[in-house]
Amino acid sequence: MRFDILTLFPDSVNLFLNESIIGRARKNGLLDIRTYNIRDFSKNKHKKVDDYPYGGGTGLVMTVQPIYDAYKHITDELSYKPRVVYMSPQGRVLEQKLAIELIQEEHIIVLCGHYEGIDERIIDEIVDDEISIGDYVLTGGELPAMVLVDCIGRMVPGVLPAEDAYIHESHFNGLLEYPHYTRPTNILDRSVPEILLSGHHKNIEKWRLEESIERTKNKRPDLYKKYTENKK
Ligand code: SAM
Repeated sequence: MRFDILTLFPDSVNLFLNESIIGRARKNGLLDIRTYNIRDFSKNKHKKVDDYPYGGGTGLVMTVQPIYDAYKHITDELSYKPRVVYMSPQGRVLEQKLAIELIQEEHIIVLCGHYEGIDERIIDEIVDDEISIGDYVLTGGELPAMVLVDCIGRMVPGVLPAEDAYIHESHFNGLLEYPHYTRPTNILDRSVPEILLSGHHKNIEKWRLEESIERTKNKRPDLYKKYTENKK
């Protein structure tokens, strides 16, 4: 799967996306993640990428030209139109369901805004989806882009050591995952639940499902309500 990330801070993005599981997947070619510095595409002699907002007000707005040229630089070589996502606090909030939908795409361009945001005309021209990582405002779209690429990227076949590891995790089936324990069996006067040491796989599965349901009910009553409604 390919991601092209358009940003003013490619180094920050790469620093994170070169680490751990996603970093390994990049190295072995399972994920083709390319980053572009929007500033490199500016035709302004001072490489400016922002300007004052029409109508007044505080802050600066990212201009159309460098973003559009960066987008054209990528798409002119393609025979198809990749899905373009703009990371925005005004977008649809990212949930596992949406990430699963996006994994069907072979190529996603991720646009990171900064300052007050970007000129609306670039959104009208190239953006297919606006995606938010939550109802709060950050300085730039870099952290949200990393969140999106990590969340989708880890579900690409082969990226996680066990092919279907993510299907047992929180949010995949609307529940939170069951609790985990590792060695030693006793520590801080606390023991591993007996059932996990029994070796009885069927009973362990049953226990894990019950724990999943119980903790969803306690920690996220909103998710539990949806889960029980969907079961009807
Ligand atoms: N003025 C904009 C507004 O009120 O909607 C917020 C701009 S924000 C300071 C700058 C950039 O950060 C945005 O263009 C977007 O790319 C990114 N951003 C901030 N919060 C975000 C969030 N919750 N989800 C996704 N992207 C976000």
